[in-house]
Amino acid sequence: MPDHTQLVRALADAYSQEFPNSAQSHLRSLRSLVDGTSHGARSFSPFPFFAQAAQGAWVTDIDGHRIIDYWQGHYANILGHNPALITERLIQSLEAGYGLQTGLLEEQEATYAALLAEATGTEQVRLTTSGTLATMYALMIARAYTGRRVVVKIGGGWHGANPLALKGVARHGASFDAVDSAGVSSTTDEEIIVTRFNDAEALERLFALRGDRIAALIFEPCPSAAGFIPASLEFMRTARHLTQQYGAVLVLDEVITGFRYCASGVQRLYGVQADLSTFGKVIGGGMPIAAVAGRSDLMALISEQASPRVWFNGGTYCAHPLSLTAGLCMLHYLIENEATLYAELGRRGDELRRSIEQVFASRAVLARCTGDGPAVLPGSSLASVYFPRQADLAPRGPDDLTDPRLCDIELRETVLKLGLLLNAVNVSHGLGALSMAHGPAEIAQTCEAFDRVALRIARGA
Ligand code: PMP
Repeated sequence: MPDHTQLVRALADAYSQEFPNSAQSHLRSLRSLVDGTSHGARSFSPFPFFAQAAQGAWVTDIDGHRIIDYWQGHYANILGHNPALITERLIQSLEAGYGLQTGLLEEQEATYAALLAEATGTEQVRLTTSGTLATMYALMIARAYTGRRVVVKIGGGWHGANPLALKGVARHGASFDAVDSAGVSSTTDEEIIVTRFNDAEALERLFALRGDRIAALIFEPCPSAAGFIPASLEFMRTARHLTQQYGAVLVLDEVITGFRYCASGVQRLYGVQADLSTFGKVIGGGMPIAAVAGRSDLMALISEQASPRVWFNGGTYCAHPLSLTAGLCMLHYLIENEATLYAELGRRGDELRRSIEQVFASRAVLARCTGDGPAVLPGSSLASVYFPRQADLAPRGPDDLTDPRLCDIELRETVLKLGLLLNAVNVSHGLGALSMAHGPAEIAQTCEAFDRVALRIARGA
């Protein structure tokens, strides 16, 4: 296996020199913030860059760089950073004396819920503040409804640091089959079963063996740990069929995919309806909002009248007035522009993927992009670059893409990350999310940056 030690050292040295103010800020942050951050996914070695402002596709950092950003608010910002559509509405609201009076009932809340339910074909909605909470509550509802305890998830599946799904997130050696966090219930290991994404046969075997104990099957239709490789139509249909057959609840975690491929859940494109769905990110228009949406007989368990009841009270800041304002504005915009916006986003995604693959091919570096989907998906604005060790690798999900025997992980996570930042492009796990603000100029500049990094990889220096 190629050794990148020298290249990584050269890149880290150059990065440290180019980003001196961020280096200082990182040192200051370390004094009061563990690892210098509130979220591990925002930091990287040798230190993260610190943002000063952001507009559209671009972030300006505290060293004065202008960087094209594909992280885009944990993939939330489908129109780019700080779109005028949302910021102007929020300013108007605050100037009219409306915005921070959280804790009161508002007409906007029901308007928002009705719009979300209609767009996603769901019956009832409850709002909360994060995708983590949404997936936790969805699994609590599923357990209460079925009277069963076991949650089935996929290896690499991420549902936030929700204690009911904190197994099989990270790879542990050759498998994903281990509890990820300390401090969770001692029953976690037996109550979460990890299966393989896009392996319908394994799912069938699992349900045949344990189906009568399974409360819920939860997965992301396009898992981030799989570089957003989408579920195959077969896997999606098998998941729907088996959960129905065995009386388990199908929870589709659409925190990333919701309103990313169409003005609804991506499940609509698959022709599948989950029992419960979780949404977040895009639906807040840049503000914190998340939702559980689903069948009313399941959702009824969270009512004050239910007995026994699932205690789903989403917190002081749930249905925050400014989140509702931004979220409503975003949902309306996406619904109204659905016919053109998603086709255009998908077209740009395809163009970027093909161009990046060409760039690497022209430098004789073996690299591919994920993001192409089954025929039901219109093209994706989510993608990742990976470096297969063999040209014929056809990855099906996180199992393949995170396996260092099959892919060069260091090239993606360290060399590409630092190499691109030195060329003013910020990626997450190989690429990330395009937004409507990533136009032809940004795409062309991104490809030039990839070309410079491809050249360094080819030279090994
Ligand atoms: N589910 C999925 C699929 C996610 O990607 C995330 C966040 N990355 C979550 C749940 C958790 O959402 P949040 O970070 O808003 O808590």
